[in-house]
Amino acid sequence: MPNQAINEPDSSLKLKSLYEGFRDAGTIRALADRISSAAINLSEPLYIMEVCGGHTHTIMKYGLLGLIPDNVKFIHGPGCPVCVMPKERIDQAIALAKMDDVILLTLGDMIRVPGSKGSLAQARASGADVRPLYDPLDALAIARDNPDKTVVFFAIGFETSTPMTAVLLQQAEHAALPNLLFHINHVLVPPAIDAVMAEPATKVNAFIGPAHVSVISGAKIYRRAAEVHHTPVVVSGFEPVDVMESILRLVELKNHAESVVEVQYSRAVTEEGNLTAQALVDEYFEVRDSFRWRGLGPIPQSALKLKDKYAHRDAEIHFGGRLPVAEIDDHKACQCGDILRGLANPMDCKVFGRGCTPQTPLGSCMVSSEGACNAYYRYHGVQHVD
Ligand code: SF4
Ligand code: SF4
Repeated sequence: MPNQAINEPDSSLKLKSLYEGFRDAGTIRALADRISSAAINLSEPLYIMEVCGGHTHTIMKYGLLGLIPDNVKFIHGPGCPVCVMPKERIDQAIALAKMDDVILLTLGDMIRVPGSKGSLAQARASGADVRPLYDPLDALAIARDNPDKTVVFFAIGFETSTPMTAVLLQQAEHAALPNLLFHINHVLVPPAIDAVMAEPATKVNAFIGPAHVSVISGAKIYRRAAEVHHTPVVVSGFEPVDVMESILRLVELKNHAESVVEVQYSRAVTEEGNLTAQALVDEYFEVRDSFRWRGLGPIPQSALKLKDKYAHRDAEIHFGGRLPVAEIDDHKACQCGDILRGLANPMDCKVFGRGCTPQTPLGSCMVSSEGACNAYYRYHGVQHVD
């Protein structure tokens, strides 16, 4: 007799059942109790930086701030690729978009982040051909359909997104599409951690490691930072139970003075990461000498560029002298820089929620849906866990 369970889809297996346990209020409260008990033994306050904007949103959305003891604090980090993009790179994208016969392709919230004279969205409204993409691979069809135009993919993101740009480049090469170029802004997490720790005023003494980045790069990329900065790192999933479990481990590690890397998100992250993706990235990219981050300034060896072998795809080389290069700092009232360096909280900014809201953002931390100011604006005051 055929096994019905195998032949028929199980209607009880819904997406909800995959995450339900990770949002269980009872489990979250039990973890909060264990964190409070363990934190009594901390010899100094624990300042945990969650590098990744996704974790900031989990902490705010589920009201986790209200569940942890006073000697455990969160510091929000530079882990949102939209937030850390300096104005001059956005100005370059706008300059490209305004050129005759150029189509500029961009992803996510990037279209709304202000450069020095407006955003890509404003450039688009005034006639520039800026097209937001949902899937980077759509760039291939756009290049194919517009052989008389130069199509530039404005590539952003951490280790998470770089493999997708590499796939796009690989396919452009295979399809012999000479009119698809790349403006590369891919950045790297470990040098950003170094920059945060180099700040004399930093209080950070533990890290929640980014989840998506680690799926690609593996937990190994944090080993050196943990050793050099004497900070434990726990790579965490994005659900509230994941984050609470990671906080508990960080408190326990601190109590035992262990500066090691652990993986809480073991359902997706391994020590080595995705070797196929890493090989693909190595084929096309090499490390830049320096890249200026919004708020953090120039950080050595913190970003990627195309290898010489692929210079024919590099928009920065192709359009060389026609791109603006002046370095431009943020609006004086905006404290994104301090927030990205871990020195301020969104609520410290005088224009938070007044001059600066998601509808009228002054800085990138409010524009980006992963930004710390955006998370505080949306969820501040949330007290519940379910
Ligand atoms: S890309 Fe993923 S891992 Fe990186 S900052 Fe955004 S949410 Fe976090
Ligand atoms: S509230 Fe707005 S202006 Fe203030 S730091 Fe955040 S993004 Fe910048």
